[in-house]
Amino acid sequence: MKNVLTVISGPSGVGKGTIVDEILKRREDIVESVSCTTRAPRAGEMHGREYFFLSKEEFQNRISQGDFLEYDEHFGNFYGTPKSFVEETLKEKSVILEIDVVGALNAKKAFPDSLLIMVAPPSVEELKKRLVGRNSESEEEIERRLSRLDYELSKAECYDYTVVNDELERAVKEICQLIDLRKSGK
Ligand code: 5GP
Repeated sequence: MKNVLTVISGPSGVGKGTIVDEILKRREDIVESVSCTTRAPRAGEMHGREYFFLSKEEFQNRISQGDFLEYDEHFGNFYGTPKSFVEETLKEKSVILEIDVVGALNAKKAFPDSLLIMVAPPSVEELKKRLVGRNSESEEEIERRLSRLDYELSKAECYDYTVVNDELERAVKEICQLIDLRKSGK
């Protein structure tokens, strides 16, 4: 069994965070990489748990030091995956990244053997409802996220698999099976 770098993407509000949390609860052989970001923490988010929250200056310094496996800018903020963490962890365990489409495709370039999974909503209407109901972003930010939705879903064809989050338990099991398949070298 080899260790696998799995990249999970999907539009904002699709439930990818919940799916990843469930996978981590069930699987001791999988670790999540914590990304760095320059956006402000949302209520309940903790430095080092959801993200490492950095200033723009700190983030730029880390870019120039080549510290990121990939990074990208969204909604005026930077997000990046720490390279050394991923490389070191892959020696012992599988790693899961929850990142956007551009980041995922860059991660695939850096790690061609990575497993790319797109999480899609059962319906776009359903997702819009969830995103608005989440109440954690301003109206302007919700609009920006909605406008990216079609773009993100259109990139599903670049992914190894698309998993529909119609039911949490089913989606989690499907993703675990896909990881196991890749771990066994198939
Ligand atoms: P949020 O602000 O909602 O936590 O995340 C906004 C977007 O940034 C999401 O699409 C999320 O997947 C993406 N993102 C989170 N971490 C990273 C990362 O390390 N690299 C890239 N490229 N995107 C990320």
